[in-house]
Amino acid sequence: MLNEKIAALINNQVNKEFYSAYLYLEFANYCEELGLDGFANWYEIQAKEERDHAIIFRRYLLDNGYRVTMEAIDKPTHQLNSANDVFKAGLKHEQYVTALINAIYAEAFAQHDFKTMQFLDWFIKEQVEEEKNAEDLVKKMELFGNDSKSLYLLNQELGSRAYMPTPMLKGE
Ligand code: MG
Repeated sequence: MLNEKIAALINNQVNKEFYSAYLYLEFANYCEELGLDGFANWYEIQAKEERDHAIIFRRYLLDNGYRVTMEAIDKPTHQLNSANDVFKAGLKHEQYVTALINAIYAEAFAQHDFKTMQFLDWFIKEQVEEEKNAEDLVKKMELFGNDSKSLYLLNQELGSRAYMPTPMLKGE
């Protein structure tokens, strides 16, 4: 059986991953409004991945005998005034998610819950990727965002991203 505190933190993470999906769909909505369909595509795929993460955390709780609670998902309230704002908010959000996952890991470590630590290893690595991707987007926008030709190409590049189910999602 999972420790109650660790289980509660993971249950909270289910909600936060769904919120991430919701937030990224909101970013996609805004990018569509700007006419940046490639940017929107990138965030739609990001949203699918976040949903995958939620399902993986949920499955871990179920497989360990915990009754999962589906809490209400917050409404994204970010003020977005440019594509730059989207990428900056995306980076900030990923840093927040990293802190949440680190907090679960710290609790598992403190409780000698090696099974949960091992389960979280993939997410620890994933967050390094997520933060790097988000940082790259901020940098690219700072370098090229003010040039319409470059913006067009960046939109094309982000439009070519395709969804790949998260490897840990097997069987879902
Ligand atoms: Mg995630």
